[in-house]
Amino acid sequence: MSTITNSKIPEGPIEKKWSNYKEHQRIVVPNNKRKLDIIVVGSGLAGGAAAASFGEMGFNVKVFCYQDSPRRAHSIAAQGGINAAKNYQNDGDSIYRLFYDTVKGGDYRGRESNTYRLAEISNNIIDQTVAAGVPYAREYGGTLANRSFGGAQVSRTFYARGQTGQQLLLGVYSALNRQIAKGTVTMYTRRDMLDLVLVDGKARGIIARNLITGDIEKHSAHAVVLATGGYGNVYYLSTNAMGSNASAAMQVYKKGAYFANPAYVQIHPTCIPAHGDYQSKRTLMSESLRNDGRIWVPKKKEDAEAIKKGEKKAIDIPDEDRDFYLERRYPAFGNLVPRDVASRAAKERTDAGYGVAPTGLGVFLDFKYAIERLGKEVIEARYGNLFDMYEEITDVNAYEHPMMIYPATHYVMGGLWVDYELQSNIPGLFVGGEANFSDHGANRLGASALMQGLSDGYFVLPYTIQNYLADEITTPRFKTDTKEFNEAEKDVKNRIEKIMGVNGNQTVDHFHRELGKIMWEHAGMARNEKGLKEGLEKLEKLKAEFWKDVKITGSVDSVNPELEKGLRVADFFDIGELILRDALNRNESCGGHFREEYQTEDGEARRRDDEYMYVAAWEFKGDGKEPELHKEPLKYEAIEVKQRNYKK
Ligand SMILES: Cc1cc2nc3c(=O)[nH]c(=O)nc-3n(C[C@H](O)[C@H](O)[C@H](O)COP(=O)(O)OP(=O)(O)OC[C@H]3O[C@@H](n4cnc5c(N)ncnc54)[C@H](O)[C@@H]3O)c2cc1C
Repeated sequence: MSTITNSKIPEGPIEKKWSNYKEHQRIVVPNNKRKLDIIVVGSGLAGGAAAASFGEMGFNVKVFCYQDSPRRAHSIAAQGGINAAKNYQNDGDSIYRLFYDTVKGGDYRGRESNTYRLAEISNNIIDQTVAAGVPYAREYGGTLANRSFGGAQVSRTFYARGQTGQQLLLGVYSALNRQIAKGTVTMYTRRDMLDLVLVDGKARGIIARNLITGDIEKHSAHAVVLATGGYGNVYYLSTNAMGSNASAAMQVYKKGAYFANPAYVQIHPTCIPAHGDYQSKRTLMSESLRNDGRIWVPKKKEDAEAIKKGEKKAIDIPDEDRDFYLERRYPAFGNLVPRDVASRAAKERTDAGYGVAPTGLGVFLDFKYAIERLGKEVIEARYGNLFDMYEEITDVNAYEHPMMIYPATHYVMGGLWVDYELQSNIPGLFVGGEANFSDHGANRLGASALMQGLSDGYFVLPYTIQNYLADEITTPRFKTDTKEFNEAEKDVKNRIEKIMGVNGNQTVDHFHRELGKIMWEHAGMARNEKGLKEGLEKLEKLKAEFWKDVKITGSVDSVNPELEKGLRVADFFDIGELILRDALNRNESCGGHFREEYQTEDGEARRRDDEYMYVAAWEFKGDGKEPELHKEPLKYEAIEVKQRNYKK
């Protein structure tokens, strides 16, 4: 174990750190920029924004994604909105308040300087995206509208109906296409990054599989940026897109990049409940719905039982027999408590026997009261597409009956460790968006992921990468016919051969589903020492079975989704193991990491600041060996560390 001391946090008061950095960092002159190549893996909000910005600045950029178009990155799924401290509502918001809410929401486990920078940049993002044509919702007079999200007492969420991610991605996609047309960006779609190439310890390229032809390709650059999204799909059932994966992150971890806080996984409270063993995804109902929807379960167990059996409906339960448990437990924030708090409260009620879904795992989200107050038209204008989506999936009209919801895996706060410059411990390897361990501590507030992705891509990386590239201006372009590239290519081919060669009897999905069950049961909403140890044993056993009995149909030299999935599930085993180990190491509860042994008398998370106020960064030590833990101590100078309280 060692202590990480090189986070490169600039000197000075918190509100000056980023300006100080920008004023003193080295930059690359325009005629040198043309000589430098940057690889960006990922073209969602973080990667797309970074690549478009690098192109505009004059660098030569190569962008990779596994979809057939950057337009399909998972960012497109984001529904509810994006935060910024504009204070258009004049309801008391400020950069400091957004910073404060984010640090508090993350249970004091994020890096203070990064979080402040994020809050500071938030306002630039709104200006940038409005200029790019993003059609945010507006008030009657034309000003941009805001709504509320969890963990905040102000309205600071900008939105485009329930399709904010899609609209923001269209903005990024337009900026990226402009660079593609100009020739500064070359787009490589349908490519899976399968390895990172290091030359003299620096990131110098990647190995990618062409998903159409099966060719293994080598690409070089002066720096590599990963913006490959989150690893929530290790739980199999999650709100993430089916293709979201951990492979690029796991491969660079195996090349020496530290992986930070893997146990910080966010379980989102408002998702459509699971209905059986053979579904492959959970559907998110946006957090924005908690602005107007009230969450409840019956006060009487017999009513809950009757609803479960289909003998009663929610509308048969009179108001006085409804338990609005969030409003009861957290009067100051009510239905707008942060996600971790809302998810655990739902679990507490359903564990106690008050769940309403046929499986027992469901609570109500009710719009009756908002419709009585505001009228159906207003609710339809605010959330119409979400109500339509809910009806298409469940056949229930949510204007007339409450929605049924239950928590599901949604987002990961853990990710590759990065310093203030978003550079990993491997020189020349930068990480942005959900793929880095991010600015959110142990729990992300709603509408802050889009903010972070665009902050990293449009505003942070374009500065910080120059500080690194300023040293590379005399480094000529790399050939890929070198020992390092050839060895990495051979490793990838061997991995593919190995998985194809198992030729067992079980599908990849079978193993993924079983892995997901282990993760949900042992490292889901509640964790404990015994369960985590059992989870590790079960995972090891399943992993061994996978390598004996998985069957990949099809061939390596053509389109082969089974092979793609197989390689991803192999990497999910590794991230799953890291999550369990990290959760076992952290003998405290904080944010999304709830250890049952560490809770207050009324069931709230109990942090142990004296021992665990650090970022846990894990270093790979070889297959079958325990990873090594490095600790980055967290210091709070601009904010007073307190017990989180959403009650008053
Ligand atoms: C249903 C849903 C709703 C959400 N709503 C909101 C919201 O309202 N507000 C909010 O702030 N956040 C929201 N989030 C979270 C937010 O959408 C994501 O955290 C964010 O969009 C991630 O952006 P990204 O650029 O980091 O990654 P992504 O958008 O996931 O992009 C990843 C990119 O990496 C590429 N890639 C991945 N692996 C490889 C590989 N091995 N090789 C090559 N390319 C690869 C992909 O092709 C893709 O281009 C939501 C998330 C979900 C699931």
